[in-house]
Amino acid sequence: MALSEFELILRYFTAYQDGYAVVTGIGDDCAQLSLSPGYSLCTSIDTMVEGIHFPKNVAPDKLGWRVLAAAVSDLAAAGAAPMGFCLALTLPDSDEAWLSAFSQGLIEAAKAFEIPLVGGDTTRGPLCLSVQVFGEVAEGAMLTRAAARPGDDIWVTGTLGDARAALDCLDSAEPDAAQQTFLDQYYRARPPLMFARQMPGLAHAGIDISDGLLADLGHILKASQRGAILNLEALPLSEALAGTYSTAQSRDYALTGGDDYQLCFTAPVAKRDQLTHCAREYGVSVARIGEITDAETLTILDHGKAVSLDILTNKGYLHFS
Ligand code: ADP
Ligand code: MG
Repeated sequence: MALSEFELILRYFTAYQDGYAVVTGIGDDCAQLSLSPGYSLCTSIDTMVEGIHFPKNVAPDKLGWRVLAAAVSDLAAAGAAPMGFCLALTLPDSDEAWLSAFSQGLIEAAKAFEIPLVGGDTTRGPLCLSVQVFGEVAEGAMLTRAAARPGDDIWVTGTLGDARAALDCLDSAEPDAAQQTFLDQYYRARPPLMFARQMPGLAHAGIDISDGLLADLGHILKASQRGAILNLEALPLSEALAGTYSTAQSRDYALTGGDDYQLCFTAPVAKRDQLTHCAREYGVSVARIGEITDAETLTILDHGKAVSLDILTNKGYLHFS
């Protein structure tokens, strides 16, 4: 590499390494983070490999944002407060134009999510990015997949399906306004971290929607050994999605499309008012889309009428049957 490893780190990855929890950042053998009294550490790691998780030649600044957004989304799912993250970067060469754009997107996202970059590893090889995030949550309060209870409302944040619609226009030379919305959701996902941090104490189970609502809600149902009733007409669809696709196609994308990085959580009926109030306070839209049931089956209703899962084109839901 033209740049030494140390110069590279110094030049591109030290711009945002201070935070409330950071005692020691980049430069030592370990980063040191301090937990607030009575809090537990939550951690999660995500890896993206070129050609598998993103296409060759994707704009590096977009990649920087995306890899961090996907990782912090797991902290949101847990209701944890971001403390810091580490980046393991494997690069074919030290292409400075690439590094500059990538680190710009990454640090921009880090600032937006208020999660400092506290350490990492830099190696040579086929392009591969790993991000490990650290967060904290009050002891015993982390949202888990297994905590859904019969009678709980099922909620989701934001709108669903837009990132899936982006796949239809990734190569579009001149995206229209709706396509811009989709591409923005895909490349610049914003997991609702501040809102999510309020969920311990309000919600029971939580998960982030990375593989599509049906698949991810399915994880909650399986882990909780419960079923659900899902109301199709309550799915939150963006105007862009509903205006571009038929109702059936929009719902299909909302149910089975990936990369939304919104939250799905379950909460007692008694918390409805508090939840909607909290969502308003943090500028997050929430939709109540169904209910957890005692039966271990998923029922999908359209205005109260049962709908077959066969309407879906993406068969990722099949673990329900
Ligand atoms: P060590 O040999 O102890 O593993 P390194 O020489 O790999 O340490 O890294 C030196 C310092 O730079 C460490 O604090 C490490 O966490 C940090 N670091 C290395 N690569 C990155 C990176 N891509 N982004 C952020 N920090 C990094
Ligand atoms: Mg060392």
